[in-house]
Amino acid sequence: MCGIVGYVGDQSALGVVIEGLRRLEYRGYDSAGVAMLADGKLATAKKAGKLANLEALLEESPMAPATTGIGHTRWATHGAPNDRNAHPHVDCTGTVAVIHNGIIENFAHLRAELESRGHELVSDTDTEAVAHLLEEATRGGEVGLADAMRAVCHRLEGAFTLVATHADFPDAVVGARRNSPLVVGRGQGENFLASDVAAFIAHTRDAVELGQDQVVEVRRDGVTVTDFDGNPGEVREYHVDWDLSAAEKGGYDFFMLKEIDEQPQAVADTMLGRLDDDNRLVLDEMRLSDDDLREIDKIIVIACGTSFHAGLVAKYAIEHWTRIPCEVELASEFRYRDPVLTRSTLIVAISQSGETMDTLMALRHAREQKAKVLAICNTNGSTMPRESDAVLYTHAGPEVAVASTKGYLTQIVACYLVGLYLAQVRGTKYGDEIAKVVADLRAMPAKMQRVLDDLEPVRELARDLAGATSVLFLGRHVGYPTALEGALKLKELAYMHAEGFAAGELKHGPIALIEEGVPVITAVPSPRGRSILHDKMVSNLQEVRARGARTIVIAEDGDTTVEPYADVVIRIPQSPTLLQPLLSTIPLQVFACEMAKARGHDVDQPRNLAKSVTVE
Ligand code: GLU
Repeated sequence: MCGIVGYVGDQSALGVVIEGLRRLEYRGYDSAGVAMLADGKLATAKKAGKLANLEALLEESPMAPATTGIGHTRWATHGAPNDRNAHPHVDCTGTVAVIHNGIIENFAHLRAELESRGHELVSDTDTEAVAHLLEEATRGGEVGLADAMRAVCHRLEGAFTLVATHADFPDAVVGARRNSPLVVGRGQGENFLASDVAAFIAHTRDAVELGQDQVVEVRRDGVTVTDFDGNPGEVREYHVDWDLSAAEKGGYDFFMLKEIDEQPQAVADTMLGRLDDDNRLVLDEMRLSDDDLREIDKIIVIACGTSFHAGLVAKYAIEHWTRIPCEVELASEFRYRDPVLTRSTLIVAISQSGETMDTLMALRHAREQKAKVLAICNTNGSTMPRESDAVLYTHAGPEVAVASTKGYLTQIVACYLVGLYLAQVRGTKYGDEIAKVVADLRAMPAKMQRVLDDLEPVRELARDLAGATSVLFLGRHVGYPTALEGALKLKELAYMHAEGFAAGELKHGPIALIEEGVPVITAVPSPRGRSILHDKMVSNLQEVRARGARTIVIAEDGDTTVEPYADVVIRIPQSPTLLQPLLSTIPLQVFACEMAKARGHDVDQPRNLAKSVTVE
């Protein structure tokens, strides 16, 4: 995820681009950079950190006035967030500059190929390869930039929005899009390209949404859209009537709602580039050998809050696939209990920001005891990845809302990938078994989208229950952490009493809480596969219903057995039980969000909470 702006017109391109980047900074703030075309020459300026750093640099060394330019604000996926890896990236001759949002899965292969042909690549990004491919494809200006872009797109795998500019074609900016957003803003004698309309809404409200696999050439006097083969492309034109603050949220009332909707894409991005040419799983940074990993005899997941719940889900998957005992521990408790750690213990530390102080201190304690540490984080170059032996980035893009949503689901996916990686290295699963799980995982974003498309009943339910004083959540197996997460979201956002229980534990105490009308929300495991889990859960439902609870049941399509015991049924697509949290969590997030709205709370910034907790 990152912010992209392109401009061709009569105004100062630098002014328009910088202003656009400011509106897009919520999409990434690892670095910012621009490329401007003035007097037939390409000039770039880029700087690590927030946009203000780039602005300071431009003040010190101003650029020549230009009316064509592009700009980028980065959320790093490949390569540390430093000056060198900041976009735009240029080719060997300094004539073409490119900016990119997404992940080019086959970049390693392309880099090697380019280097063998004598190109010098200077950054660690996946993006830079595109600049050199465009250099080759434009053949010193003989082939137009749009034609070259179409040819290059055929070589790329993964997700990308690309925007490029070329010194020999000073009156055009060319964009391409696959699986990442790109919109055109149409003005009078000027046109814009951007990741979203917020970037150009101060100039025009007429927008064109590009379709999948399209290339666009934007000139002062017009816009041409084609597919990757050069055939005319179909687009959707629309008029934006949001104000600026709504535009930054993509028309949503809150960032959290937007981030909930981004989850299918975020989960797909977590999985991008994870399989190498031999279909073996790869992590982002691995400083542990296969032998080290074969020696692991215990795994301890450490995390806080929502990340802790991702860890609880991880335990089921990791133990099942690797047969290594796995504990999950609250990071804030970890070092005070004098945990038994050896060189063959693997610590999996989970934190969206990579800065959570409780987790960081626990991680440091584990390293002092010589345990090995693998970090699962969303923020590239943050402290925890730097202090770990291995890193798996979730690639969810920035999460602005304090309550984690896409951060959480992508952490769960990252945990699955760690489990599968260990199973692969240790040979506890056959290659085809791992491939089957990977295929199931790849099918999840489309299923998540189906859940998102049908949530009106959940919103209605939340509005209906807005006056409730307490809501209980029940679950078994991976449904248990889902119950805990559902309750946490409700506490965080709606400021109400909510508790999650392991369904079997109910009869050992909490069932005393059930009285007439108490809402009880459950996610029922699949009746296929491990049907014993399903049947036990249905019995627990009967128990609470018999005592007057109002039951809200999340169940798979086709599972009719729950209907007699449910006041409300929320349907989710069928999936393997282990992967079900990726679906069943979504209605709970929306439920909490809608409850908060109905109770008049600020969804994005709940009281007393902060996004990245850097105190113990
Ligand atoms: N993969 C590219 C990088 O790491 C682009 C990331 C982005 O979308 O900002 O630089």
